Formats: sequence, structure tokens, C-alpha cells
Amino acid sequence: MKGTKHFSRMNYNVRRGLREIVASDHKISDRDWKLILSEFNGTCAYCGEPASAENRGIVPDHLVAVTDFGELVPGNIVPACQTCNDSRGNKPWRIFISNKFPVDANNRIRRIECYIEQHNYSPCSPETSLTPEELSKYNALLLDWEAFLFKARELQSRVAQRRLLEISHNDEINRPAHSGAG
Ligand SMILES: [Zn+2]
Repeated sequence: MKGTKHFSRMNYNVRRGLREIVASDHKISDRDWKLILSEFNGTCAYCGEPASAENRGIVPDHLVAVTDFGELVPGNIVPACQTCNDSRGNKPWRIFISNKFPVDANNRIRRIECYIEQHNYSPCSPETSLTPEELSKYNALLLDWEAFLFKARELQSRVAQRRLLEISHNDEINRPAHSGAG
């Protein structure tokens, strides 16, 4: 349905924005990035290939997604080629590796788990980083947003249904269905 994509994007952005209350946005330093790259021998943590024209180079990828409070820090960032980065999308990294590299999945997963352990990374959560009062305000904001989104989508589908009815009504009385809308 037209517009649905925008609502999804809004939802993503609002949640990502709210997330910054819980975990501040880090920028990874060049030094850290070089260190992370060297820990994976300059290769993609998923497929093990070095940067090439075919895979369009190596970029930092979040193991735990930003929307799940994953931060841009060593232990949560791995080098990933663009091809793996694209095909992983929002999939949890273990599932992505298991599906994409079934034969060697265990080794690849263990290697990344070692890397996480080495950096002692655990993603923060609203429960661990906010006081009870802050947490209740945070949760109230989330509920407000969900209510807003629900009402917006409801109105959207109501308008869409009304338009459909008008079009079929116009068809019934044998009039051209164009409305001149652009
Ligand atoms: Zn790759």
C-alpha cells in the first residue's frame, strides 16, 4: 500500500532516535577500526574474503543492530564486505552465517564469539542504563509513538478504503474512474 514504506521508515527513525537516549552514538576511531580490521586479518568477518571490486570493499557492520541498542564500538563492530552487509540486512548475525555458510558456520560463528569475548562486549538496554523514573518515561514515549503510528496507519487505510469505494461506485454508474489526481 502506498505510504506504508514511509511509515516503516518513520518507525525505524523514531526508534533509532529514542535509542540514543539509552546508548549514546559513538563514532569509532580510526585506531579502533584498524585494530578491528587486523583482528580479522583485513577480511570480512562473515565470508572471510578481503576487499575486492566484486564485493565492493569492507565496511563496519553492527553485530547487534543499532535499533537493538548495539553500539559502534569494538566487540560489536566487525568488518563486513558490502555483499555480506547487503545480504545480511536485519538478520541476526548467527542466523545469517548459518544460512549463508552452512558448511563452515560453526567455525565462523565461534571466531566472532571469541572476538566479542575479547572485547567483553554486552549491549546495553533501557533497563540497565536508565533509572526507574527515566525508564518509565522512556517506555511512555515508546507507547506514545506506537499509538501515533497506529492512528496514522488506521487513518491511512480508512482513506484508502474510501477511495476504493468511490472508484468502484464510479465504475458502477459507468463513469470514467479517473479523478485527475496525481
Ligand atoms: Zn563478506
